[in-house]
Amino acid sequence: MSKTALTVYGANWCGDCRRAKKFLGEHRIPYAWVDITDNENAIALVEKANDGKRRIPTLVFEDDRILTNPSNAELADALGLETKARLSFYDVVIVGSGPAGLTAALYLAREGMEVLVIEKGGLGGQAGITDRLDNFPGFPDGISGEDFAERLVRQARRFGVEVLQAKEVVNVRPEGEVHYVETADGAEYGGRAVVLATGATYRRLEVAGEDRLIGAGIHFCATCDGPFYRDKHLVVVGGGNSAAEEGLFLTRFADHVTFLVRGEAFSAAPLVVDKIEQHKKITLRYNTEVTAFEGDSQLTGVVIESQGETETLEPAAVFVFIGLSPNSEGLPSKIARDVDGFITTDRALESSLKGVFAAGDVRAGSTHQAASAAGEGATVALMVRQYLRAH
Ligand SMILES: Cc1cc2nc3c(=O)[nH]c(=O)nc-3n(C[C@H](O)[C@H](O)[C@H](O)COP(=O)(O)OP(=O)(O)OC[C@H]3O[C@@H](n4cnc5c(N)ncnc54)[C@H](O)[C@@H]3O)c2cc1C
Repeated sequence: MSKTALTVYGANWCGDCRRAKKFLGEHRIPYAWVDITDNENAIALVEKANDGKRRIPTLVFEDDRILTNPSNAELADALGLETKARLSFYDVVIVGSGPAGLTAALYLAREGMEVLVIEKGGLGGQAGITDRLDNFPGFPDGISGEDFAERLVRQARRFGVEVLQAKEVVNVRPEGEVHYVETADGAEYGGRAVVLATGATYRRLEVAGEDRLIGAGIHFCATCDGPFYRDKHLVVVGGGNSAAEEGLFLTRFADHVTFLVRGEAFSAAPLVVDKIEQHKKITLRYNTEVTAFEGDSQLTGVVIESQGETETLEPAAVFVFIGLSPNSEGLPSKIARDVDGFITTDRALESSLKGVFAAGDVRAGSTHQAASAAGEGATVALMVRQYLRAH
């Protein structure tokens, strides 16, 4: 993972500045942001770097390299991200570098197969953005998501796995016994088998402060992060089945749980709703929406609006359960998915398209935990091995 120290000079109204910041954020590249509006020193620096012109974004690296309005590909090159594959044809092409994808990759490469992993964002997947993994076996004191991701990548590379970054897979095209994985920049990588390990994305509220405070008081998984909040006041956002079940689970740790439901009723199963309504540790607030999160480096307040009134709650943490979307868009219709878009597989984790397998959070029936994703990665590797022996 690159650690290049970088300063981005730009302005909030500039679309290319937002694009560059998004790219850096997705690849977890730390950078300092300087808004040049009304900042004479910053304007002078930008003009000096661009022959007197005020061109933004201007990116200044620690080693004094300067890039002005780079494309994403130029940015990836400048950051030293691996974007070019050694071969055009592999035994196995794996899409996604989370625990499922990288575990499958290291198993297969360790057996001597040529394995390519293609990743569009930061290496390590969701596990890499986790503040702390406290429930992954083998780490008795827990491990930061960043450290975990770095170890996974290092282990995979030790066995010869090739990992491409900043490459979004947009299609999988079968041709006879071979599958061609296509990326957004028009490149194609052939594989005798393909593993889709593209994970899933927790739906966000998209309100102010959310991006900044994820992992610092805003969470999406009760099993993962609930135990950090013993005897504390927690807020749960959502009114569906997962909010109801996960919120009930949180009462095992929390002193009190306040549910914020946008509508005037839960849409969860009546039996669970009964339990929630009767639970002594739970307060229910219907017709209530979160409008902002407060706090610089740690959540300090949740601004809510209910029937025209604004109020700020001060829980120890907020758990948002408004859905989980599989990263499965753009795949050919031959790859069957369930009603929510998760890829359906047989017991060998093979999808409805022969030779294309799925593992981890993107697979229908997965349990959305890092350890189970790694477990599915190991399983799918063994299944792919069997498939390749027979084909
Ligand atoms: C904030 C947070 C905290 C969590 N905390 C815990 C915890 O404490 N304990 C726990 O067990 N679990 C935790 N989880 C869940 C855990 O991280 C996931 O279950 C696990 O990472 C799933 O692994 P995966 O490999 O299936 O997918 P992911 O980790 O989601 O990885 C999938 C990868 O595929 C990439 N990708 C997607 N689409 C494409 C495409 N088209 N082209 C190329 N690449 C693509 C993504 O960028 C991503 O890197 C947490 C999740 C989050 C978001």
